[in-house]
Amino acid sequence: MANDCIFCKIVDGVIPSARVAESSDAIVIRDISPQAAQHYLVLPKTHVRSVAEAFDQGIGEKMVSSLYALAHQVVKQEGLLPNGFRTVINTEAGGGQTVFHLHLHILGGEQLRGSFA
Ligand code: 5GP
Ligand code: ZN
Repeated sequence: MANDCIFCKIVDGVIPSARVAESSDAIVIRDISPQAAQHYLVLPKTHVRSVAEAFDQGIGEKMVSSLYALAHQVVKQEGLLPNGFRTVINTEAGGGQTVFHLHLHILGGEQLRGSFA
């Protein structure tokens, strides 16, 4: 666990958070400040700063694949299909990243418009 990483604390249960789904590699929680009717975060259990860092470390392909595999389970479980949904990974501050533990956003449950901010 990385020191002072809020998502590591959620993954490790130090900060309690309801899990929408879980796999051996990742968990899914609801975003605390939803930007759509349904807004989930897929968090890898292993700390890595960003998707760029994951690929730099040689673990990106496996990690992104596992995040999307769990996301696919969640969008079916939570009824986001067949209507549709959006996935987003923000990278570094200029890309809108505010929590520096890689995470995949899933937004849906309504007609999404424009771009994700
Ligand atoms: P980012 O801006 O880094 O792509 O996304 C971080 C997301 O994490 C934001 O949408 C924010 O609302 C969410 N978030 C930040 N802290 C917490 C928390 O303690 N619990 C949950 N469930 N979501 C959080
Ligand atoms: Zn972390």
